[in-house]
Amino acid sequence: MIPLFKVAMSPAAMGRVADVFSSGMMVHGPTVGAFEEALRRVVGNPHLAAVNNGTSALHLAMRLAADPGPDAEPRPAWRDEVLATPLTFEAATFAVLANGLRLRWVDVDPGTFNLDLDDLARKISPATAAISLVHWAGYPVDLDRLDRILDRAQAAHGHRPLVVEDCAHAWGTTLRGRRLGGHGNVCVFSFHALKHLTCGSGGMITLPDQRAHERVRLLRWLGIDRRADRTNASYDVPEWGYNFQMSDVSAAIGLANLEIVEGNLRRHRDNAAYYDDELAGVPGLELTDRAPGHDSSFWLYPVKVRDRDGFMRKLTEAGVATSRFVRRNDAHSAVREAAAPLPGLDSVYDQMVYIPVGWWLTPEDRAHVAKTIRSGW
Ligand SMILES: *Cc1c(COP(=O)(O)O)cnc(C)c1O
Repeated sequence: MIPLFKVAMSPAAMGRVADVFSSGMMVHGPTVGAFEEALRRVVGNPHLAAVNNGTSALHLAMRLAADPGPDAEPRPAWRDEVLATPLTFEAATFAVLANGLRLRWVDVDPGTFNLDLDDLARKISPATAAISLVHWAGYPVDLDRLDRILDRAQAAHGHRPLVVEDCAHAWGTTLRGRRLGGHGNVCVFSFHALKHLTCGSGGMITLPDQRAHERVRLLRWLGIDRRADRTNASYDVPEWGYNFQMSDVSAAIGLANLEIVEGNLRRHRDNAAYYDDELAGVPGLELTDRAPGHDSSFWLYPVKVRDRDGFMRKLTEAGVATSRFVRRNDAHSAVREAAAPLPGLDSVYDQMVYIPVGWWLTPEDRAHVAKTIRSGW
């Protein structure tokens, strides 16, 4: 079976992990700092913090939206809405609830599967505390257009909602030549086992400025300042926090995998370009939209198909894994109060499916996938 996902583990990871074992510093050691330094160079944003998984990074991000911190003007209780995409991993949805905020669903663009910015512009109001978006499958949301929408909202309401970009699929994605993670928003990355860059388990949050960075550095570990002298127990916690610290073992794995991730990314993109050519015009199949300057990481390759069950059956029989991947989050009982009409998502939800596109595909594999699809289902 040609799989949809595979763990990309550098052969150097074992040695790096062995170094951490023999150092005796498994957590709060120097390896996390070295990993963060390496990430700063790649992402091009000095304000970032490694955490134990992407979900934790989302919880930190929504905390920043829910609670501006002890030195800032408090958030008015009525400003409690998060405009969010329902087509995402549950982690993003539940981080909103965990911070006492309310979900307000924004429709999905049937062409890209990303947040529909027209619907967002209609729903933005003085009650909007934050916007939760995901660069779905690695394809970037048009952040410049989003900025213009927010400029108008700020002029109208005197408040600019915080934007939380879930970049879990989008390691290496660039928008108009600029890598995600440095567009002035709060960005969340996952280094889960199956993501482009893996730490086994891990994550990262990138921040727009030094103040937010400093705050997250404290919130990541219970609000306690690890740089302060704690021998006399005289330290103070100005704001309660979490235990979201990345372990040094995870950081060592991440450091090793940074050496292979760009090469893997090129192979995802090359396979996607191959499918773009080979699958164009196949009856009953539609590719997702692409705009100039929007360069996807192609963590996944989404297609829209007629008779999805038949399509998936045909590929399974040909030894090709496919998946519907996640359930639309607005369908979950846990969030039933937020239910709203979403005609854009409704129009494509029953056609969406993902085919293997990753670095592990041989030229024969991808040719087999394309030929199987072209022969019909
Ligand atoms: C993988 C993923 C996350 C974070 O997952 P963790 O397992 O907590 O690292 C968040 N959002 C999306 C869209 C994801 O795919």
